[in-house]
Amino acid sequence: MTALVLLDHENGHIKKAALSAVTAAADLGEVHGLVVGDASVAQAAASIAGVTRVLHAQGAAYEHFLAEPLASLIVSLASQYDHIIAAANAVGRNVLPRVAALLDVQPIPDVVAVIEKDTFIRPIYAGNALATVRSTDAKKVLTIRGVAFDAAATQGGSATIENVADEKGTEADFSRFEAVHLTDSKRPDLEAARVVVSGGRGMQSEEKFHILDPLADILGAAIGASRAAVDAGFVSNECQIGQTGRIVAPELYMAFGISGAIQHLAGMKDSRVIVAVNKDPEAPIFQAADYGMVADLFDVVPQLVTALTKS
Ligand SMILES: Cc1cc2nc3c(=O)[nH]c(=O)nc-3n(C[C@H](O)[C@H](O)[C@H](O)COP(=O)(O)OP(=O)(O)OC[C@H]3O[C@@H](n4cnc5c(N)ncnc54)[C@H](O)[C@@H]3O)c2cc1C
Repeated sequence: MTALVLLDHENGHIKKAALSAVTAAADLGEVHGLVVGDASVAQAAASIAGVTRVLHAQGAAYEHFLAEPLASLIVSLASQYDHIIAAANAVGRNVLPRVAALLDVQPIPDVVAVIEKDTFIRPIYAGNALATVRSTDAKKVLTIRGVAFDAAATQGGSATIENVADEKGTEADFSRFEAVHLTDSKRPDLEAARVVVSGGRGMQSEEKFHILDPLADILGAAIGASRAAVDAGFVSNECQIGQTGRIVAPELYMAFGISGAIQHLAGMKDSRVIVAVNKDPEAPIFQAADYGMVADLFDVVPQLVTALTKS
């Protein structure tokens, strides 16, 4: 059995979630990695522990991980593979359903455990139940939840690198990259952060949301938010945590003014320690929290910042 893992990358670094996908793939047999773009990333991929072969494709069409050319490339390589795997992040969620459709198989998204070569566990109902899924498809197309698997070591491997390209995919056809608008932030990436400081509708406004900044600075934390806070325009979309946002499992998750709807819990309930501050003692977030404080966040946050600054 051999698995092909799409190793998506940013700023020259293979994403942590893709490294977790390598760990999941290693449970299934031999692991090959697919890198599109920069040759230096292919070199880095060759050092990943457990990867025995790196397929490297260059071409303008692949530069921005557009689903159409990338899916075409993966399908052109698929005959050699039993499993086609990517991280359950924006790239994997965009590309792999298309791969599955082109191969006429059922994709299995958000895998959190590999039971056997054809049997996987994935959350359903916003993470309130775990489904064990057995696939009878000849090829299994999976996305992997990064928080459920350790990242593969970036050193220790010595894979061969082979250049591959799909003629059809090297030129963009019916999709093309226009522009990317990124928020310039020095904070850690939400999915990789050890600490996440998160705010909800209780933050009241975009301006008041910034009360969390000094706390996040002291803790070296990423900033997260509930969907209500995002919808209200307090913070940008990429901060949203939950069923329709990002999935995080940091060592410490601090929720301020978040009620704890199941759709929010679906994105953070696997955090190691959850701290909640909410002025409503009945807020459901307290059922998920390890430490809860019934208080006004606008009193608590400045006090926390003062106490942490002194310590
Ligand atoms: C299909 C679907 C998908 C969804 N996906 C997501 C998702 O991915 N992520 C997500 O977060 N939501 C998601 N939602 C929305 C979700 O159901 C909730 O509406 C949302 O999480 C509520 O956000 P909130 O807790 O910030 O707001 P509210 O539920 O309004 O809670 C605000 C909380 O702030 C507290 N508060 C107010 N003022 C203060 C204060 N001064 N100090 C302390 N506490 C205070 C209140 O007591 C209250 O508990 C989804 C919903 C649907 C239907």
